[in-house]
Amino acid sequence: MVYTLKLRYKGITINSDQINKLQLYFATMSSQSPIPWFDDFVGVAYRYYDLRMNVVPLITDRKQSASLWHDSIHWWVDPSIKIRFVEMENDYWFIMGSDSQKPDTNLAFFKILPKSEHYERFKKGHGGEAYLRLGVYAQKSLSDVKKGALCTCDHEAQDHDEGDGDVCLFKSCKCKIFSSFQVNLLKRKKTITDIKFLEEKDVKDDP
Ligand SMILES: [Zn+2]
Ligand SMILES: [Zn+2]
Repeated sequence: MVYTLKLRYKGITINSDQINKLQLYFATMSSQSPIPWFDDFVGVAYRYYDLRMNVVPLITDRKQSASLWHDSIHWWVDPSIKIRFVEMENDYWFIMGSDSQKPDTNLAFFKILPKSEHYERFKKGHGGEAYLRLGVYAQKSLSDVKKGALCTCDHEAQDHDEGDGDVCLFKSCKCKIFSSFQVNLLKRKKTITDIKFLEEKDVKDDP
């Protein structure tokens, strides 16, 4: 099995050996046809919704999210869905895969993401189970929102100067451009019961 996938992120290069090692976490990866990695998502949201916490890969295109579910995730066998979080100092690897009833269209998710408050909350609070849902992520600019809408800097839209490249008018704030986003959770869900947090050394080759 030859993997040429290389990922570069903030100067970190993950080589194919490490990728191969990651695959050991997924039983299905040892079958003869490798499962393609999917990384065309902008992030992962962690939300309480229903009884369990939700793990929500965020897709920017509604149609893409629908076909991703319809073609791949729908066929996942719930008890075989695995999520691994490999922690680095400020970032983590999000890795998700599953056995599928339709192996031809199966995918495995992989992305390096910055740790966040929501991530830490999920880590503490998931209790071994979560729902998997997809979310449609829409970035909103200053002209799309009402005055009271909150920017990611925590100040309102009306505190951002439209005349001056959207800068935040609070003196102490370094925000240069208004940005806000909206996430729509899709209804369909899968149950995940195999969730593990690992350290980077657990997946690295021995020296
Ligand atoms: Zn701002
Ligand atoms: Zn601000």
